[in-house]
Amino acid sequence: MSIVINDRCRGCGKCMDVCPGSLIKKNEEGKAFMKYPRDCWGCASCIKECNFGAIEFFLGADIGGSGSRMTVALDGEIMHWNIRMGDGTVKTIDVNRADANKY
Ligand code: SF4
Ligand code: SF4
Repeated sequence: MSIVINDRCRGCGKCMDVCPGSLIKKNEEGKAFMKYPRDCWGCASCIKECNFGAIEFFLGADIGGSGSRMTVALDGEIMHWNIRMGDGTVKTIDVNRADANKY
């Protein structure tokens, strides 16, 4: 499993629409949950669609270290990649979406 969905989910459904494996479903409360965690290959599509920071992506040791998780927050054209390290410290990487796919 590459992601976990936390209690900030508002049930907008965007993550379900973009997951190429249709792995995310709605529970009885209308909130998203990961139905098929073993099938997730970590494409990160769902994370980029969630405007509420409800999807956390587990980072590998090479880009965050053990226990680190990343969420995404959108602010207009700026995408904030918020990384919570295993020791509790937070780092943010800001990406201009207009420039993100240029290279
Ligand atoms: S995109 Fe985020 S808020 Fe919307 S259903 Fe998915 S986890 Fe919930
Ligand atoms: S990371 Fe990709 S494959 Fe995994 S749940 Fe999200 S959209 Fe689906």
